[in-house]
Amino acid sequence: MGKINIPAPSRVRSRRQVETAVCALATLIVGSCKGGSDGPPEVPSTPAVVALSPVGAVTRVGTVGDTVPVLVVRAVDSEGRALPNARISFVTDEQGQFVSPTAVTDANGEARTNWRLGGGAGTQSARAMSGNVPSVVFTATATAGPPVSLGLRTQPAGSRVGERLSVAPVVDVRDRFGNVVPVPVTITALLASGPGVVAGTSTVSSPTGVATFDALSLVGPVGERVIRFEAPSLQSVASAPVLLRPAARSLANRADDVSGPQLKVYYVVPSDGVDRGLDTLPTIAYSMAVWQRWLSEKLGGRTIRLDTFNGALDVGFFQLSSTDASMVGRGAFVLNEIQRQMNAAGLLQSNRIYAVYYDGGSSFACGGASSVVAAMYLRGTPPGATCPPNALRDSPNATMGYWESAMLHDVVHTMGIVSGTSPNHTAAYPFHVPEPDDLMYTGPSPWRPGNSMVIDVNGDDYHGSNVRPGLPTILASQYVAAGLPLLAAGALTAPSSIGARSARDEGIPNVMLLPPHPPYPAARP
Ligand SMILES: [Zn+2]
Repeated sequence: MGKINIPAPSRVRSRRQVETAVCALATLIVGSCKGGSDGPPEVPSTPAVVALSPVGAVTRVGTVGDTVPVLVVRAVDSEGRALPNARISFVTDEQGQFVSPTAVTDANGEARTNWRLGGGAGTQSARAMSGNVPSVVFTATATAGPPVSLGLRTQPAGSRVGERLSVAPVVDVRDRFGNVVPVPVTITALLASGPGVVAGTSTVSSPTGVATFDALSLVGPVGERVIRFEAPSLQSVASAPVLLRPAARSLANRADDVSGPQLKVYYVVPSDGVDRGLDTLPTIAYSMAVWQRWLSEKLGGRTIRLDTFNGALDVGFFQLSSTDASMVGRGAFVLNEIQRQMNAAGLLQSNRIYAVYYDGGSSFACGGASSVVAAMYLRGTPPGATCPPNALRDSPNATMGYWESAMLHDVVHTMGIVSGTSPNHTAAYPFHVPEPDDLMYTGPSPWRPGNSMVIDVNGDDYHGSNVRPGLPTILASQYVAAGLPLLAAGALTAPSSIGARSARDEGIPNVMLLPPHPPYPAARP
């Protein structure tokens, strides 16, 4: 391309004069000018810029999202003279912006624009470019903006009840772009959902805006929790749900949270049984929570007092000295042998009833009860039925399943219910009533365990206004009280509708009889 003779610009021009000059230049180069008096001038092709150089410093210091002092570059032609009317482009990394991404050089050959920094703290850069000449690079050191919120740098992981979280949450102070702001802060952790409390060191101060909660623990019922972190005048942040698991296995009885008559839970395995560790998994606590809540709703807020430790169901562990096969060989007396061995081991105390999840078999029943112990035979295979293996409810918010219904049924037996002298007592199935939708039914028809069970049809045998004085009732039991804490961990996610649950319920052997129980052992040991 040949040289273009550009008239020397005058020092002072009005905007109109500039537009006219630009149009004239464009006409010189491309023979047309579309910019009219009503619109902006069309930016012409760049005259022969030979070099670009910065005017002033090429470094800036500023706050993310703010505009830094104007960027200026000078364009010169092949003679080294200031080159006006040359188009200069500005580009930037990050999310930075230019007020004018394109500028035209003035009479001094200078083009300028304002640079608004992007959101990322650290070094940002911008370039001024024209054609193929080396560009001018500006850099800015962007610092974080004012603190507005807390952020979770490290999500916590769950733990056993009362123990430090297995992954300590790390919380920091952030600006509106999410940059960490190194300011002094005091952050407090609290529970955002579910029962229980945070324990350990729940308030942490940091001079640098980053707080590590390395001595934080949770106490309360087993289940999922959300932890929220708060600091004055900053938006709080909540963790993802963490699972609060049962305490580690304990062969000794832990301290009781509450005094008085109560129900103690054991996970029991035969000497050669597969130890699934159900006492250290949420499984049993979830299943217990389901029937505990169901019972509380049926009894107007009353329920059975459970043995808890640190707010969580305290599940003990016991291994029988007998093999599974030898226990099965006892026929109707599996429960009796479990109770005998637990008593011999010194586990049975006065003013306690016991709920045993026995991970062994029975050829006679899926469970049994005495006046002291209620036991579920999780691997039972009675004739004509199969006890549902591994089907304890997997959420504290679930509906009543087979095992929940059956365990509650047998726990109620430990209260001496149904009395052999109640009006509808079934002689053929001792200590039961004859209605298949009754919690305490056993008989020739299928039992109907589940949420729709009735506690004493007609209210005249063991619960209700028609019960004859002198008969044992659930409400009169020393193990039942009002105002007890529930194990249900609260609805982190609302339970599915009953309809959605029905498919699972169909998987429960509703047609199964709850077989007759072995005879009560003679007396409390
Ligand atoms: Zn029964």
